[in-house]
Amino acid sequence: NLSDKLDRAFKVLKGQGSITEINVAETMKEIRKALLDADVNYKTAKSFTDEVKQKALGENVLTTISPGQLLTKIMNDELTALMGGSTSELNFPATPTVILIAGLNGAGKTTFSGKLANFLKTQKNKKPLLVADDIYRPAAINQLQVLGEQIGIPVYANLESKDPVAIAREGIAQAKQNGNNVVIIDTAGRLAIDEAMMREIEQVKAAVNPHEILFVVDAMTGQDAVNTAKVFNERLDFTGAVLTKLDGDTRGGAALSIKSVVNKPIKFIGTGEKMEALDVFHPDRMASRILGMGDVVSLVERAQQQFDEKEAAELQKKIRKNKFDFNDFYSQIQQIKKMGNMKDLMGMIPGVGKMMKDVEIGDDAFKGIEAIIQSMTPYEKSNPDSINQSRRNRIAQGSGTKLEEVNRLIKQFEDMRKVMKQVSNPAAMANLMRRMP
Ligand code: GDP
Ligand code: MG
Repeated sequence: NLSDKLDRAFKVLKGQGSITEINVAETMKEIRKALLDADVNYKTAKSFTDEVKQKALGENVLTTISPGQLLTKIMNDELTALMGGSTSELNFPATPTVILIAGLNGAGKTTFSGKLANFLKTQKNKKPLLVADDIYRPAAINQLQVLGEQIGIPVYANLESKDPVAIAREGIAQAKQNGNNVVIIDTAGRLAIDEAMMREIEQVKAAVNPHEILFVVDAMTGQDAVNTAKVFNERLDFTGAVLTKLDGDTRGGAALSIKSVVNKPIKFIGTGEKMEALDVFHPDRMASRILGMGDVVSLVERAQQQFDEKEAAELQKKIRKNKFDFNDFYSQIQQIKKMGNMKDLMGMIPGVGKMMKDVEIGDDAFKGIEAIIQSMTPYEKSNPDSINQSRRNRIAQGSGTKLEEVNRLIKQFEDMRKVMKQVSNPAAMANLMRRMP
């Protein structure tokens, strides 16, 4: 995967005092390959590595950081810039603001429509109306109505009508009547680019003059996502993209290509099926994600200085055998707490860093996590896979936390375990072992 490859690419640079033409060329070749594998399209990958190379060659490597670390930093900055640099917000230039949702079947349009309505209501103090404009499948209308019910958002539907343009207009009229200041129009998808359907959504666009057109695309479809984005953009000139299904192992390489191919900002990402699983898109966070877990290596390196040899050796063995469990996790947290410089360190731990992103880091930072782990039985701690639904419920009750928090911690623990396993395979870990006191 990408992070293994980056590790390998950085290894080429290891031990070199400065970044030279030769070692950077070799590394860039590896990185380009890695980016291509992560669904970044060729042109983007090429111009990206050229740019990074240019920047890297001009840098003097400080003695305190390795060329690999410096390169990671340059790449991170470049990736962030490539994805637009900063967050691109929705615009609300009129009342009601009309938002048209477009994309292929199964991309996640209806789910996103619900999530967006929920987000605008709960975070932006808006009064949205959802419009069911997918008339081809009765189930589609019902799906939106069920979501609307669930999040307390009204849904306009017209089961009698077969005219999406008319329905969209009726929806907006109803919004005006009822004082809804945002109208979200969920449209019919298409299995693939289909001329008739394309024309239909163009007509809806022409009729209602939306302020935002959000193109929804499944991030798991990789390079296809980019091609689809291109066609939709040519036809609709959308104002922003939404990447869904970024909750799996999807690396998000599509994010990079979409921005550079159609030059439209990504505005949101979907990270799950639930109505709350929506995030505003942050280019810098996505950059870290695409770069993979490079930071983990430096975390482990720094943590290493604090661990005594025996404990470290034990941990390596466990990680290699994939036996890393909640006891180890707990004792790692204790180690990290001892290390100080919390905020810095937090960002480096996959999962934990994300969980803590908005929390002021003090001694209490790990309280919730510690409480959850303490509420596990010894058997559960050493057998994380055994923690099923009913155990999770009990742990939530015992620790005074919410089931969601328990689920999240376990998910993040699993992610961390995966990463550690990866780190334990390639040269990175071997390197660490060699340097152990
Ligand atoms: P539409 O055909 O474009 O309206 O797509 P739907 O909204 O009906 O979504 C298709 C499927 O993808 C459904 O099973 C959704 O639950 C699922 N889905 C949508 N967004 C996400 C997401 O961000 N993560 C995951 N895991 N599933 C999603
Ligand atoms: Mg739908």
